[in-house]
Amino acid sequence: MLDLAIVGGGPAGLTAGLYATRGGLKNVVMFEMGMPGGQITGSSEIENYPGQGPVMTGMDLMATWPEQCQKFGLKHEMAEVKSVLKNGENFKIITAEGKEFEARSVLFATGSVPRRAGFKGENEFFGRGISTCATCDGFFYKGKEVAVVGGGDSALEEAYYLSKMCSKVYLVHRRDEYRAAPSTIENIKKTANIEEVTNVSVEEVFGDMSGVTGLKVKCNKTGEIRDLPTPGVFVFVGRNVLNEPLKQEDGSFLCDVIDSGEIVVDLKMRTTTKGLWAAGDIRIDAAKQVVCAAGDGATAAVDIIEYLG
Ligand SMILES: Cc1cc2nc3c(=O)[nH]c(=O)nc-3n(C[C@H](O)[C@H](O)[C@H](O)COP(=O)(O)OP(=O)(O)OC[C@H]3O[C@@H](n4cnc5c(N)ncnc54)[C@H](O)[C@@H]3O)c2cc1C
Repeated sequence: MLDLAIVGGGPAGLTAGLYATRGGLKNVVMFEMGMPGGQITGSSEIENYPGQGPVMTGMDLMATWPEQCQKFGLKHEMAEVKSVLKNGENFKIITAEGKEFEARSVLFATGSVPRRAGFKGENEFFGRGISTCATCDGFFYKGKEVAVVGGGDSALEEAYYLSKMCSKVYLVHRRDEYRAAPSTIENIKKTANIEEVTNVSVEEVFGDMSGVTGLKVKCNKTGEIRDLPTPGVFVFVGRNVLNEPLKQEDGSFLCDVIDSGEIVVDLKMRTTTKGLWAAGDIRIDAAKQVVCAAGDGATAAVDIIEYLG
C-alpha cells in the first residue's frame, strides 16, 4: 500500500514528491510516463523562476529536480496512469500496461498537452512540417522561413526563439491583440525578421510528398487570401488538460471538474473527493507557471502529510 501516489512528474508532481518524502512519508511513488520535468522541458528560454540566475532552457532548469527528490526516497514508476479509482477509503491506480497499485492518497498533477487548431492539412502534415515544439524542431528550419500560429505567451516566446535561427518568422494570429506578457510582446515588436500577420484565419496548410510548402491565410476584415511560402508551421493555440484518468466507468469524474476540464480545488489543493489532491496547470485558476505549479505541489504535500497523520 502506497502512502501517496503522485500522478505526473512535472514541477507540481516533483515538488510534492520532495516535500512528501522529506516530510517523512515513506512509501511515495511518482507515476510519470516520460522523462520527469514536465512541459517546461520543451521551452527554449525561462527567466522567471525565482533565483535561477541567468536565462536558461527549461531542460536545464529541471535537470536537478528528480535527483533532489530521489535523495529523500521518492520512487519513480515510468508508466502512464490509465485510471484512478476509489477503492473504499483508498484509491486504485491502474497503469496502461495493466499494473495495479493501491494508495491511501493521490495527488493528480498531469498538466496539459498542445491543442490542435483544426485547420485543413493539420493532421495530414503533423510531424511533416507542422510542429508544436520549436525547441525540438526549430533547428530543422535553420536559415529558412517559418510560420507560428497563435497569439499567447507560448506562441510569442517560440516565435522569438525561432527568429534567432530562421531567416523570417510569420506570426499568424486571428486577433489584433496578443494575450501575452508585455515584455514578450515588446520582444516581438523589436525583432526585424518577425512579420506580424494579424486578424487572419488559417485556411489551410498545404504541401507535397516531401512535407509542408506553405500556409494559406484569409484576412478576417477583407476576405483577402494570402499564401505564406514556409516549409515549417509551428502551432501554439492552447493546451488540453489531461484529466482522462479521473474518468470513472460511468463517464463521471472522480471529483468535480469545470467545463474546460480543470479540477476544482480549495486553497490546500484538496479536490471534492477525500484523499485526492490536484496541483499545477490541471487545477482551476492556475497561473500556469513553473513557480506556481511547484508551490501547489508543496501546499498539497504539507496537507497530505497532515491528512495521513
Ligand atoms: C513553450 C512553453 C514555455 C513556457 N514558459 C514558461 C516560463 O517562461 N515560465 C514559467 O513559469 N512557465 C512557463 N511555461 C509553463 C510551465 O511549463 C507550466 O506551467 C508547468 O510546467 C506546469 O507544471 P505541472 O507540473 O502542472 O504540469 P506539466 O509540466 O505539464 O507536467 C505534467 C507531467 O505529467 C505527465 N503525465 C501526464 N499524464 C500522465 C499520465 N496519465 N500518467 C503519467 N504521467 C502523466 C506528463 O508527461 C508531464 O511530465 C511554459 C510552457 C510552455 C509549453
